[in-house]
Amino acid sequence: MQGSDFDIAIAGAGIVGVSCALWAQMRGLKVMLADGNAPGSGTSSGNAGTIATYACVPVNSPSIVSGLPFYLFSKESPLGFDWRHALTNMPWMISFLRNCSKDRVRTISDHLGDLLSHADAGLDPLIEAAGAEDLMVSNDCLYVWSTQAGYEGAKVSNEARRRNGVAFDLLSADDIRGLEPALQMPLHKGLLYKGARHVRDPLALTERLHAKFVAMGGTWVQQDVTNTEADPAGVTLNLANGSTVRAGKFVVAAGAHSKAIKGSGAASTPLDTERGHHLLYKDHGHLISRPVGWADAGFYAVPMDPGLRVAGTVELAGLTKPKSKGRLAYLARKAHEMFGDIGTPDEDWLGFRPTFPDALPAIGPSPKSANILYAFGHQHIGLTLAGITGRIIADMAEGRAPNFDVSPFDPKRFG
Ligand SMILES: Cc1cc2nc3c(=O)[nH]c(=O)nc-3n(C[C@H](O)[C@H](O)[C@H](O)COP(=O)(O)OP(=O)(O)OC[C@H]3O[C@@H](n4cnc5c(N)ncnc54)[C@H](O)[C@@H]3O)c2cc1C
Repeated sequence: MQGSDFDIAIAGAGIVGVSCALWAQMRGLKVMLADGNAPGSGTSSGNAGTIATYACVPVNSPSIVSGLPFYLFSKESPLGFDWRHALTNMPWMISFLRNCSKDRVRTISDHLGDLLSHADAGLDPLIEAAGAEDLMVSNDCLYVWSTQAGYEGAKVSNEARRRNGVAFDLLSADDIRGLEPALQMPLHKGLLYKGARHVRDPLALTERLHAKFVAMGGTWVQQDVTNTEADPAGVTLNLANGSTVRAGKFVVAAGAHSKAIKGSGAASTPLDTERGHHLLYKDHGHLISRPVGWADAGFYAVPMDPGLRVAGTVELAGLTKPKSKGRLAYLARKAHEMFGDIGTPDEDWLGFRPTFPDALPAIGPSPKSANILYAFGHQHIGLTLAGITGRIIADMAEGRAPNFDVSPFDPKRFG
């Protein structure tokens, strides 16, 4: 690392990159964090805010294959699809479907379950360091099904949760209404994830961690990383303003945009995006007291500081298309089924979940160079997994082994 400006430089100031930066700074490393945009302003700002340590079940599922006609063609499907994107991205689609077999889903769930079991140990020290406890709410999380068929279809998922030690209570429709009387849609069964937490405002959380990183002496540069070149001693980075920086290690943490960082090798990974939208109903945050995931509709309603956020669904349509009117209309329709007349939303939003076809993140040395580390691909649970990812990256930057097996997330698994 001799002759480097920094021990470690990180591209991307979403929740994952900021968590890597703060962990490395807390370990006493000399750290630079770079992003052309404001900290946390990308996908990390508009998510559903759940610390979803129970979410070891990937979107991949045998039922996706059997239900494909519904998912592809129904207006009531929580999955949207752009045919042109699908056709230009066939290898991702095929690999995703290959990872929908019963055996693969079991393996993926168990790997995610293991990583999630360490999530709090990665996140809590950051929250404590940044004094962000006031942004966290501990009031459990509710998952509900409207139909018996939907609930029966989730049996395998619920078994995977149980196998991975997720604690939940099974609730009847009356139990659910007792907990959340404002819910108006048909209810069949629900699960209550005991001890689950959520964030009042995910953007504020990333901003708070970023402010702590800077207060501790970390270097923040509001510039994109355009190019990287690794050698045995470190990595040379080019920033968008034309300057050059030298670092011992370089971390790619640009979420769904990671492939654009030239020279890092990220372009060769099978990363795509699962787009997700949200609607905000400013004056309705009081309707529920905890996140409610409507499982058969594919989204959460969450009480947050800015209001009631209705966030979720999946759209496979790439990074460049604007917000989908169809997806937003679906969320608005379902929000009315859920709560009755709550008027028109005050805000809509589109975010880009970074997703590999096997639903596992890439965390660790790149195939390109041991000095380039990947920290992207956290799909639906990047907020939850950011802290533990940051701790693993800090371990690797210091040359120590993480305290559990992280080989399932090895970026070299793609060959
Ligand atoms: C609707 C929705 C609901 C969700 N709900 C939840 C939830 O409840 N719980 C949960 O755990 N997760 C949830 N997620 C997932 C979570 O939001 C993501 O996994 C997470 O935000 C990804 O964080 P990130 O830091 O990798 O990416 P981002 O937040 O996208 O950050 C990437 C950053 O990289 C920057 N960047 C891009 N190119 C460059 C470059 N060349 N150089 C430097 N920087 C660059 C961007 O400007 C951006 O700031 C949800 C996602 C969506 C869409």
